[in-house]
Amino acid sequence: MPLAVELVAVGTELLLGQLTDTNTVFIAQQCADAGIDVLGTHTVGDNRTRIANTLRSALERVDGVITTGGLGPTIDDLTKEAVCDALGIDTQLDEASLRQMQEFFAKIGREMRENNRKQAEVPRGSFVLENPRGTAPGFVAFGPSGKFIASMPGVPREMKPMLTGLLIPFLCERYGVQNAIFTRVLHTINIGESEVDHRIADLFRAGENPKIAVLAHEGLCDVKIMAKAASREGAEAMIAPLQRTIEERLDGFIFGADEVTIESAIAELLRSQGATISVAESCTGGRIASALTRLSGSSETFLGGVVAYDNSVKVAELGVSEETLARFGAVSEQTAREMAEGIRARIHTAYGMSTTGIAGPTGGSDEKPVGLVWFGIADPERTTARSFTFSGDRDTVQRRATVMALGLLWRELRTPINERLM
Ligand code: ATP
Ligand code: MG
Repeated sequence: MPLAVELVAVGTELLLGQLTDTNTVFIAQQCADAGIDVLGTHTVGDNRTRIANTLRSALERVDGVITTGGLGPTIDDLTKEAVCDALGIDTQLDEASLRQMQEFFAKIGREMRENNRKQAEVPRGSFVLENPRGTAPGFVAFGPSGKFIASMPGVPREMKPMLTGLLIPFLCERYGVQNAIFTRVLHTINIGESEVDHRIADLFRAGENPKIAVLAHEGLCDVKIMAKAASREGAEAMIAPLQRTIEERLDGFIFGADEVTIESAIAELLRSQGATISVAESCTGGRIASALTRLSGSSETFLGGVVAYDNSVKVAELGVSEETLARFGAVSEQTAREMAEGIRARIHTAYGMSTTGIAGPTGGSDEKPVGLVWFGIADPERTTARSFTFSGDRDTVQRRATVMALGLLWRELRTPINERLM
């Protein structure tokens, strides 16, 4: 049975921008994973009337509301009162919560005040959500129509275990929620979002379950396949054929699925070949080395690199010839090749990768515009080089060039050596 809810975060601090609402994000993720549909989210200040109004209007649209915040003992904690207003019920003392609270105060050696006792009251007829990490219990209160309002404390450390350990299991059981959402993410590199879109556009229209979404960021583009099913196996079976079709359409661009990153994909290919790599970076300033060392265990495959920014370093550390620099310039195919060959020879690795370009905003010319970057890869058989021109400010050019370098490297490594052209 589908279960639709709206989320309400209570707290004036949230409306003033003094506190980031991480609770809503967490609850939304957990609901999605459990197959509970979140159809709306709201933020409301510590005001009894406005909280009650928000709850009432939400209950006109959905089966239930989940709130966080405003359950504490202080004067501005008004959620419980507002829940009672919205549902037209009063409160009752929950003996178990009172006992637990007394034990809690005894343990921390503090006297329990009357306003704490008030916290042991819950809306009449509620299902109580115990709070071993704090004082205020949560609860699920029910209205005459069978709709519910579930309220939890605002403190994330208390709310999270209450949500995952108590509330979600309770809702799934009581409302017979079976559908869980499973996702498979296919990661692509060096293909634009619009090209991905173009190649799989018809699949988007195919339906809601399984459903696909494309998310692009920084030269990387993810295709997410989501399936709703009663079990993981059921979801797998729905995802698999669609995944195969997408893999065919995007052949040569998908470097991995789910938790695989471009760095881990590169490391895996190098490891499987028993090969190593070094990098000679000019315009990327060490970002490729930084990416390749992000992974633990990367020393097996990445040996080191040189940031050869000034020409003198390209000559002294990488053996780029003075003549090449004078004739073709630092940003040129020839220099990229010699840098890649130089680092490979000096560090004694199977592969050497280089970048040399104009990150901007100054230094461009008609012939060599800002954003032009040459990439070189030296492998045991040959050296290849390619250039691309990136748009954007300096930081963007550097980031895009780094992703491109990783993409070129990955493509090179996955191609059998005798078929390589780059
Ligand atoms: P307490 O018993 O501690 O008073 P409470 O249920 O009354 O808990 P609030 O007083 O609303 O909760 O919030 C307590 C603290 O919890 C806030 O100061 C903040 O640090 C955190 N908090 C509250 N709401 C959120 C939220 N939506 N996202 C992240 N943190 C939150
Ligand atoms: Mg409070």
